[in-house]
Amino acid sequence: MAITNDILLDSQGVEKRFGGIIALSEYALTIRKGELIGLIGPNGAGKTTVFNVLSGVLAPTKGSIRFEGRELAGQGPAKTAQAGIARTFQNIRLFDEMTVLDNIRTGFHHSMGCGFFATLFQLPRQRKSEYSIARRSGELAEMIGISHLLDMKAGDLPYGDQRRLEIARALALGPKLLLLDEPAAGMNPGETESLVKTIKIIHKEFHLSILLVEHDMHLVMNLCQRLQVLNYGRLLAEGTPAEIQANPQVTEAYLGTGRKKGEADQ
Ligand code: ATP
Repeated sequence: MAITNDILLDSQGVEKRFGGIIALSEYALTIRKGELIGLIGPNGAGKTTVFNVLSGVLAPTKGSIRFEGRELAGQGPAKTAQAGIARTFQNIRLFDEMTVLDNIRTGFHHSMGCGFFATLFQLPRQRKSEYSIARRSGELAEMIGISHLLDMKAGDLPYGDQRRLEIARALALGPKLLLLDEPAAGMNPGETESLVKTIKIIHKEFHLSILLVEHDMHLVMNLCQRLQVLNYGRLLAEGTPAEIQANPQVTEAYLGTGRKKGEADQ
């Protein structure tokens, strides 16, 4: 597919094998600037593998992942994050002993590349930058709805707030593409509803593209402009939420694994 200006990510022919297991095969995904896309599929379909490959955690066995026209396949998580792709994890990964504020600050430190000597000797430019990071971390926490928790240890937060904090830290990296891995996992319906509002706000305010994996079909259908369905490591269907809901192959894929369509995987 030709790269046009509004295409942010263009991955084609992606394969990932683990020994004899083919977790992902001939996978393709194009994300335009500002798109909000959902990736769904039964357990073991390959969704996490897609995230790991796109975020540089895993190198694909085959295929290309072009981001703003630049090949990123196999470049590793640090270079992928620098290029503008940030993610959250299915199993939350925070610095549990650090405060909420400090967790968000780590994201800004990475994105601003604060120098070692400037940090060590607290040079004036470093102090200025620390002040700016603290202010921006507070603003981000406000937007994500955790500003009242800034001094708490991340590990002491309720589950839903930990998920929000992970999103805030990913946003502090200043990404162009945000990958959200099961953002509503473990949340009650009220928390999920509030999370949907937050994702809508950050999508609009940060002019971001978002790809999310989620088992909560209500959230996916309400939030996403386009959906991809994976099954056994292959793309089964792609379309608007309405098209996907009406697709008999998708229903079959979910029922075939003993899960009803619309059932959350908690
Ligand atoms: P879930 O919804 O349960 O999280 P998923 O759609 O994210 O599932 P993946 O975790 O990507 O699916 O797994 C896809 C396939 O690849 C599965 O068969 C899984 O067992 C296999 N797999 C994933 N990671 C590894 C690994 N590190 N080593 C071996 N096999 C793996």
